[in-house]
Amino acid sequence: MPTLGNFDVRPRRASLPQIRQSLTMTGFVVFDSKSYDRNSLGPLAESAGVTLRFDEHRLSENTLPLVRKSVGVCAFVNDQLGREVIEGLAEAGVKMIAMRCAGFNNVDLEAAAEHNIRVTRVPAYSPYAVAEHAVALLMALNRKVIRANSRVRDMNFTLDGLVGWDMNGKTVGLIGTGKIGKIAGQIFKGFGMRVICWDPYPDHAWAEAAGCEYVPLEELGRESDVISIHVPLLPETHHIINAMSIAEFKRGVYLINVSRGALVDTKALIKALKNGHVAGVALDVYEEEEGKFFEDHSGHIMQDDKLARLLTFPNVIITSHQAFLTEDALNEIARVTIENMRRFEAGEEPLPDTLLGPSGPV
Ligand code: NAD
Repeated sequence: MPTLGNFDVRPRRASLPQIRQSLTMTGFVVFDSKSYDRNSLGPLAESAGVTLRFDEHRLSENTLPLVRKSVGVCAFVNDQLGREVIEGLAEAGVKMIAMRCAGFNNVDLEAAAEHNIRVTRVPAYSPYAVAEHAVALLMALNRKVIRANSRVRDMNFTLDGLVGWDMNGKTVGLIGTGKIGKIAGQIFKGFGMRVICWDPYPDHAWAEAAGCEYVPLEELGRESDVISIHVPLLPETHHIINAMSIAEFKRGVYLINVSRGALVDTKALIKALKNGHVAGVALDVYEEEEGKFFEDHSGHIMQDDKLARLLTFPNVIITSHQAFLTEDALNEIARVTIENMRRFEAGEEPLPDTLLGPSGPV
């Protein structure tokens, strides 16, 4: 019997039911899909000859039966792709997971590799969309645009409580200078702000050309009037903003997070908002957004006390993970996702830089 160490390397023979199953399996289930996904993915899939089945449910152990007879799934940021789900997908015969987003912190890549499931993502659909949303949130927060608009609609034309400050001359600290962080930095430079940055892999050539400077993380915290987070969620970056780091921040700082919710310890943030150490917060992502963001809960009792508390602050703005939501970004997500599905079905390699391996991009 051929063996490799302790592994039996005999070619595995598929059983008759398995062969029958693989012959009838086709197309992809698009989980957690909304009207804008159908509009952007649908027509491209049709012209590429890829079959899609749109489903509004999020992928989880409970929704695995929806995968039936599909060769792949297309998933998004709040779908669950931990080991149990991946094993369930493998059992159902799924051979490809096409993430229609850049982040992949919700995918157990090792489990996928063990089951020989190809995982792809869209690494850079539009860093502009996300960076511009971060800037929009800061502008709305600083100039009290949301409060002002509600007041005017109530025929209240007073200005008390709406004082902001000039962006020009203030210091913004970027945590992470990848694709999105860099564009955010360039936009902030356009306001005449001083842009200081921290990243474990600094790009000094970019910083010099853009007029930005790298500083240690502690210095960034001490000197920034605004802190904007642009690192991925990894075990090392989980709660990168916590009670200890906030205590070192300049009093009166504004915090912007359009990256991933769990980068910020929400409990510590609420405490800092209550005591005024943090003067304002704009979030497009929230630690426990799964099951809440992207859904209509307007008729329900909010069970999440941290989210409910955040929503009581007049100096907190929250959007529901929409930084990516521009036509340009959706078109690019659809182009890359459908092309990778087509390639998979044709037995071809995925587009360059879109394949994910056990330790990240390969
Ligand atoms: P990127 O990969 O281009 O940049 C990430 C940066 O983080 C890099 O400069 C890298 O050096 C740095 N980094 C890597 N490991 C790190 C670590 N351990 N600690 C700290 N920094 C580290 O990614 P990007 O395209 O700029 O996207 C950043 C994040 O934005 C994504 O990971 C995703 O979570 C988030 N995002 C959010 C939305 C949204 O709609 N809200 C959309 C797209 C992306």
